Amino acid sequence: MAAYLAEGGKRVLMLETGPDRQPSQMISSSLYARRLKWTGTPVLEEGKNPISYVFNTGYGVGGSAAHHYAVWPRMHPEDFDMFTRYQRGRNWPIAYSDLAPFYDRVQREVGISGDARQEIWRPSGEPYPMPPVKVFAQGHALARGFAKMGKTVAPLPLAVNSVVYNNRPACLWDGWCDAGCPIGALGNPHAVHLPRAFAKGATLLTDTTVTKVLTDSTGRRATGVEVVTHSGERQTLNSSLVVLAAFSIQNPRLLLASANNKHPKGLGNTTDQLGRYVMTHLAGVVNGIFYEETQHYMGALGGQLVNQDSYPKLTHRKAGAFGSYQWIIAQAVKPTDLLGVSTSRPDLIGAPLQTFMQRAKRGYAVMTAVCEGLPVAENRVTLAQSLDEHGVPQARVAHTAHPESAALWQAAINEGKAIISAAGAPEVWNNPAGSMHIMGGTVMGNTPADSVTNSFGQLHDIPNLVVAGPGLFPTSAGVNPTFTAHALAARSAAHLLSDWNRVVA
Ligand code: SF4
Repeated sequence: MAAYLAEGGKRVLMLETGPDRQPSQMISSSLYARRLKWTGTPVLEEGKNPISYVFNTGYGVGGSAAHHYAVWPRMHPEDFDMFTRYQRGRNWPIAYSDLAPFYDRVQREVGISGDARQEIWRPSGEPYPMPPVKVFAQGHALARGFAKMGKTVAPLPLAVNSVVYNNRPACLWDGWCDAGCPIGALGNPHAVHLPRAFAKGATLLTDTTVTKVLTDSTGRRATGVEVVTHSGERQTLNSSLVVLAAFSIQNPRLLLASANNKHPKGLGNTTDQLGRYVMTHLAGVVNGIFYEETQHYMGALGGQLVNQDSYPKLTHRKAGAFGSYQWIIAQAVKPTDLLGVSTSRPDLIGAPLQTFMQRAKRGYAVMTAVCEGLPVAENRVTLAQSLDEHGVPQARVAHTAHPESAALWQAAINEGKAIISAAGAPEVWNNPAGSMHIMGGTVMGNTPADSVTNSFGQLHDIPNLVVAGPGLFPTSAGVNPTFTAHALAARSAAHLLSDWNRVVA
């Protein structure tokens, strides 16, 4: 949003609660990868499937996208009108065709490596601007299992440079993307949008926490924000437009905490929609150990191959499941253990652990199902009684997967284990269900009765207060959300710039 608005001639100030982070500070190590995760005010997590806030979010410049895995598939047309088609979930206020030009634009700007023809499930759109990412031994071993089960795999679309692109270097295939990519081959904010924003005069204040969004006496217009600066001073910053881009939990927290006499239940909350429909993808992680050498440390962290045979939402209906999932296949594995081998095998200790590690270092392989989580109104952000150091209530987030989403995860696990066994791995197991990606909380829609914002992220009752990010999603789909969040931001920025006088009036 900052890059687009600055390039549109607007004066932009970005505010970041965490520290500054330069690309030169991105260091490929387990320790530094962990330092990019959230270390701000803790979020209180509840429910049967907690949202894994620290794992999914970032802290400091670049936020979550600084360390994201760069898996960038498109959502499918049926994701946008799911309620009409299946009487499940919600409809989006836009169709795939509204977003398609912005998917095309963003993939040109950021750069995606892939092969659109091999991705037989892919919705219409421009071909990828770069050839596919490399496939290493782990990818080939797992692909064998898909072939034996009569399934197709294609190169995984990744916002990672397979070749030099836009003056950014090609990937080294060393698998340290979660540490931020020190060379700039990963399409994260440091490599793409921050330089564009700065080139057009945007400025950035770090260690500066927004504590409240302010409105005028009518309550119909945002006038700026209250912040606490790095020196602890409380200040008011005035602006004609406020964009909240603090991710799916902090955005609703801030809107709830900004309640005033015109908006006693929080900004954008006249119909009690704010904070509702928090969604995650249940991660279906399936592991195997092969006899052969898999070079599991090679490749981009996000993976090497994709399969979307289970995208049609009724595929696993007999198992009581509803929704889409895709397999992202052959993630690079590091000592960070971000994919949770240690939590999936707590039975291993002592000598059995040592022999496991000897087998795993040679032949380990992993793949992950991105399982759609249906929107549930009771999965929501509310304010806790406890306050942070600046006097803002902590966020409390309840999240329990819909039973049909939990059944979808189980169906994916069963299929994944069968695929890895068919590939020839004698040892196969799965991780417990964990939450990856956080969406919803400020969902978009056509009316205030069922949503917080319009399709451009503008609050229905405060048009110059705009939300950006996956918090806008009415449904989660069965693909990673970052590409769609970027496309929505590009669409929103184009609208704000073209309708500027009316938006800020
Ligand atoms: S695998 Fe490629 S994109 Fe990821 S950190 Fe290494 S060079 Fe960067």
